[in-house]
Amino acid sequence: MRNDLREVVVVGSGIAGMRAAETLRQEGYDGALTVVGDEWHAPYHRPPLSKKLLSGQIQRAGIDLALQFEFDARVLRGASARKLDTASHTVHLDDDGTALSLQYDGLVIATGASPRTWPGGEVPDGVMLLRTVDDCLAIRKRLKTRPRVVVVGGGFIGAEVAATCRTLGLEVALVERGDGLLLSALGAEMAECWARLHKQHGVDVRIGADVESFIGGGRVEGIRLSDGSQLAADLVVVGLGVTPATEWLEGSGLRIDDGLVCDATGAVEGCSDVVAAGDVARWWHPRYERHLRIEHWDHAGRQGEAAARTLLADPDRADTYDELPYFWSDQYDVKLQMLGVPTDYDAFTVVEGRPDRWEFTAAYGLKGRTIAALSTIPGRVLAYREAISAGADFPLPPSVN
Ligand code: FAD
Repeated sequence: MRNDLREVVVVGSGIAGMRAAETLRQEGYDGALTVVGDEWHAPYHRPPLSKKLLSGQIQRAGIDLALQFEFDARVLRGASARKLDTASHTVHLDDDGTALSLQYDGLVIATGASPRTWPGGEVPDGVMLLRTVDDCLAIRKRLKTRPRVVVVGGGFIGAEVAATCRTLGLEVALVERGDGLLLSALGAEMAECWARLHKQHGVDVRIGADVESFIGGGRVEGIRLSDGSQLAADLVVVGLGVTPATEWLEGSGLRIDDGLVCDATGAVEGCSDVVAAGDVARWWHPRYERHLRIEHWDHAGRQGEAAARTLLADPDRADTYDELPYFWSDQYDVKLQMLGVPTDYDAFTVVEGRPDRWEFTAAYGLKGRTIAALSTIPGRVLAYREAISAGADFPLPPSVN
């Protein structure tokens, strides 16, 4: 372990930043530790924001991020990193209106991602984004007035918000510009399946539909689609994906290319004293042999832990991180779990059960190798861990199924 670290700064107090801070202490780092986060809230779980916190099944206190153990750190809330100077090892902050500079000899960057705002500029009242607990509570407040809801964007956030609103008995339309729901994450076969799920639950699913404009002056009354049709709405939730939160790193000299480019240990390229983790980072993944920026809860936490260990290790002795990305999504009473990365798959097969009964497992292959598995049977994807890690033949031998 390096013994020259005396000042470590963690920027971002989401799951990646908090797990990094905990791990530093757990691994025996006893120097100064400062965690900087621009939200005022204590760290919290983000996944419930489109599910149980949005529906009101749980309350704000129910999403607090439990620490794995108490650790000693200076925590700055409502403090935003504005600039990084790698030459002088300084992070410049706006600490609730006051300029503050922090020196570091080790830096963890875990600033996550920001939701894409509406590309057409200003929007009427009632058109909302969902990333933070405040966003969630603001939308939830509007749901109490039983609005007609239009969700724009058929990715995970959009699909989950649509499911939650529909479960509350609201009138819901889900509008997606591309050729299917969850298409880039799950592929065409599953996109069709998930569109069916939403239709079965009474959502007005519009695929290949482009939003031309919002109707309503001060307050949203609906949306106009490019085919000339209109959908009435009192609330529009926009889920157009996210961009990594790297604006504050402009001019730092760090390589940013759809996130901070890192090696397989989490070290930022060309910088042995800076590591990055979570939604903001694009790590080299040895199994997939390319840089991947993953937007999953579980992965962000594990990367935070791995990045902390990398910071503490001698530069040439840090461990490669090769865990398979894992995520889940809850829509109605279906829990989808995915292990691995199906991007660019060229083969797909259902290996168990029946999608129309919502109890099944499917595998994705590329060039004759298994690259990912998806299941609605709780925990089943874990049985595929070894096969995917080892790049086992596709389709898998019956013993795995
Ligand atoms: P974040 O959670 O974004 O944390 C980064 C923190 O850094 C934030 O608090 C941010 O405000 C702060 N920050 C940003 N810039 C600065 C700055 N300049 N200075 C100081 N602080 C800064 N994943 C799943 O696997 N399953 C799910 O079901 C699921 N559901 C989700 C539902 C919703 C509504 C959302 C938004 C995400 C969901 N995700 C889910 C994704 C998952 O939550 C993210 O991948 C995870 O939160 C990423 O963690 P992170 O720590 O990298 O980033």
